[in-house]
Amino acid sequence: MLLASGVVRISTVNRAEPRGCLQVDLKVDDRVMRTSQRTELRSHTDIAILGGGPAGLQAALTAGRVGRQATLFDDGTYRNATVSHMHNVVTHDGTPPAQFRAAARAELTAYDTVCVREERVETIERDGEDFRLTLASGDVLSAYAVVLATGVRDELPPIPGLQDVWGDLAAQCPFCHAFEFKGTRIGIIGASAAGHYTALMGPIAGGFVVFAEGQELGEGVSVDAPVLTARMTSVERTGDGLRVSLDDGTTQDVAVLFVVPTLHQSAPFAEQLGLELNPSGCVRIDEFARTSVPGVTAGGDLAHLAAFPMPMATVLMAAGGGQLAGHSAIARLLARGLR
Ligand SMILES: Cc1cc2nc3c(=O)[nH]c(=O)nc-3n(C[C@H](O)[C@H](O)[C@H](O)COP(=O)(O)OP(=O)(O)OC[C@H]3O[C@@H](n4cnc5c(N)ncnc54)[C@H](O)[C@@H]3O)c2cc1C
Repeated sequence: MLLASGVVRISTVNRAEPRGCLQVDLKVDDRVMRTSQRTELRSHTDIAILGGGPAGLQAALTAGRVGRQATLFDDGTYRNATVSHMHNVVTHDGTPPAQFRAAARAELTAYDTVCVREERVETIERDGEDFRLTLASGDVLSAYAVVLATGVRDELPPIPGLQDVWGDLAAQCPFCHAFEFKGTRIGIIGASAAGHYTALMGPIAGGFVVFAEGQELGEGVSVDAPVLTARMTSVERTGDGLRVSLDDGTTQDVAVLFVVPTLHQSAPFAEQLGLELNPSGCVRIDEFARTSVPGVTAGGDLAHLAAFPMPMATVLMAAGGGQLAGHSAIARLLARGLR
């Protein structure tokens, strides 16, 4: 089993399944970590947690801390799957995301009311005040409350080669990815974001080049960088950096590219449940992480308050959102008298 991509490889060195409890010894870099988790599928779970990224993992921990029965589903598709090291995560600055997830999974094994299933959920339907989940295996599970933490998927501009360097030499978030490129030439894809990106990364960058890609700088915005109108035709690695080819036959060398991706819900559950969405396409939640459907809470990249233009998409914000969504799911159970 391979849980990670990028520089860090997590491999299974031992796997056993005694009495419905999966025990896995994971080798994370040089460390061997033992994880164990209940695996037998019940036909009911009190709280179904969809997603095994920081949001879902924290929601599961929150449920376990007060002895609430919860099942977390994880189909192994993480937004930061191509990232070798995450940053701006206090106490974990520079930790490989896969190592973070493995440590969280190991912590969850202390809580015997929490079950983790490495399985895809296909559908969620309302069933009176409860919910019915259908898994990829065809198994069906009922739940009193649902925590959605399925994250988002990034759609990049269709520039050949860009996807191959995503999370490594191309990214969207300066807080996560810029400091490692201090003093280098940074390329920005899309003129409309150039004002924001150059202002934010000004103290770090050695210089900028903007690939307008058919967009205009915002009104009244000027940038201290060339703004190229020739269209990008490809992105290739060159040693440590990137070479961008343009349709006028010229090339530009940069250390890293920044681009604003289009976000899509990773899972179809918002649509299936008829949840109210924000203009960003993310699930609308209130201050208690409740969605428009009673019993469904949401945390992490897939959801945000109406006051925000987009999710605050970071590991810590996702974990915080997952914690709140977990709390509110428990509050829902208590309000229904399900003790
Ligand atoms: C290139 C890049 C670099 C980044 N770098 C950083 C960084 O350095 N620092 C930082 O703080 N943030 C960084 N981020 C942001 C960070 O990755 C996200 O904010 C965070 O992963 C969101 O967590 P999440 O739990 O909401 O979703 P994810 O981590 O995306 O987890 C989603 C979970 O849902 C599961 N899932 C989805 N559909 C189903 C289904 N149908 N059935 C079962 N399970 C399902 C997936 O398997 C996965 O377990 C980066 C993002 C990108 C794109």
